[in-house]
Amino acid sequence: MDSQGHQGAGRPTDALGMEIAEMRRLAHWVVDVVVDHFESGAAGAAVAESTPQQLAAIFGGPPPRHRRDPRESMELLVKHALGNMQHGDHPRYFARVPGPSSFAGVLGDWLATGHNAIAASWAGGSGPAAVELVVIDWLRDLLGMPEGTEGVLASGGSMANLIGLAAARHSTGAGVAYTSDQTHASIIRGLRGIGFPPDHIRVLPSDELFRLDPEQVLSALEGDRLAGRRPGFVIATAGTTNCGAVDPIDRLAEICTDHGMWLHVDGAYGAPAALTDVGRTVLSGIERADSLVLDPHKWLFQPYDIGCVLVRHPGALARAFSMTPEYLADATARATEVDLRDRTVELTRPARALKLWLTFHTYGLDRIRAAISAGIALAEHAEGVIRSDPHWEVVTPAQLAMVTFARVGASVDAHASAAAALAGTGFAAVTSTRLHGQSVLRLCTINPMTTHDDIDETIRRLDEIFTQRGA
Ligand SMILES: *Cc1c(COP(=O)(O)O)cnc(C)c1O
Repeated sequence: MDSQGHQGAGRPTDALGMEIAEMRRLAHWVVDVVVDHFESGAAGAAVAESTPQQLAAIFGGPPPRHRRDPRESMELLVKHALGNMQHGDHPRYFARVPGPSSFAGVLGDWLATGHNAIAASWAGGSGPAAVELVVIDWLRDLLGMPEGTEGVLASGGSMANLIGLAAARHSTGAGVAYTSDQTHASIIRGLRGIGFPPDHIRVLPSDELFRLDPEQVLSALEGDRLAGRRPGFVIATAGTTNCGAVDPIDRLAEICTDHGMWLHVDGAYGAPAALTDVGRTVLSGIERADSLVLDPHKWLFQPYDIGCVLVRHPGALARAFSMTPEYLADATARATEVDLRDRTVELTRPARALKLWLTFHTYGLDRIRAAISAGIALAEHAEGVIRSDPHWEVVTPAQLAMVTFARVGASVDAHASAAAALAGTGFAAVTSTRLHGQSVLRLCTINPMTTHDDIDETIRRLDEIFTQRGA
């Protein structure tokens, strides 16, 4: 609070003149709308879309010169902007990667945004920075990485991967990166973006279980050596986006040790499963990563956006990213302090940690673990339902809350069009994708609010779509 003598005429308002009473009135409306959204659960559509023309007609035109009624404008946003999207928090949203965010996560984001919180430097935001350091250390510990491992939060998996790989190359020098045909596309884009030339990006064919094959890595790296290129980085995936496959991380870690290479593990989707006993076994070896990425806005129940990269080597992030221009000299950390801007490519950055910290405090680790386990079990239930009907075949069994399946004898485009037909009804959303060329449907079941009935009915409606089409 400012001292009384410095209260300007007309204050308190916001920077553009909104008065306190109106703020409260509008904010309470927003709170009710958001809680109504949580309350409505499965009542609305899982996904909805409008045309560019329709949406431009609603939102377009020149910016208004004068004040409009904010309540009416917010109603437009709720109905037409927030109404037309994938509802990743809907219990029958099984497509892509759902985003079943917790309400505590929302509250943490609101608090941070409401205070315009910043986590750039210690001097500029020691509070938010301290919370971020705590959250990063919790994640480090939960994923089994050693003390001294450092990290930073980012906008998501794509950025976290890019930051980790840039730090890796800065630490070890240029070299060839080995990925598989199941590696997330954002990694390849990131490698290109940070200047890996095409002959330093090796995309190897995955094995029959869609995993990066250590033998392929070994023969490729021998070939690169003979050609005068340095084998530099193995990029393993801990839970592929396509089917939940986990690369043989222990074996890949050995190869990295033997050949002086850096192991980067992309656990953007799957790493949080390590909080559960089952997941810990499936993900064995992720703690050996030199750099490890996870996406709390996927399977740690956070609203967008929050990704995280952990780097085992103290100082590696800062060596890659620190900067101290003159105009930041008075905001430069002393010995025991950390300027998070020096661990990433962002300077001004939001306090993403607050929502995750608040989520852990609000529900506790046991509840979060149980919610992750529930997602793993839901995919197993789905697999059972699919196996019980001879019209379907399981293509990849339930793993890390994902299952893929195909309609026996379906034509090439049939899965995509069935998925689109189902999405068009709003009842549920599933993904159609390809695995080694085979067209499949895929369910991602990380939302613990999903019931068995939701899954049974989704598969039943897919079955109906195929039956009506005579397939
Ligand atoms: C989602 C995902 C990413 C990209 O994360 P964003 O948060 O969407 O940027 C990277 N890798 C894997 C394995 C993913 O599932």
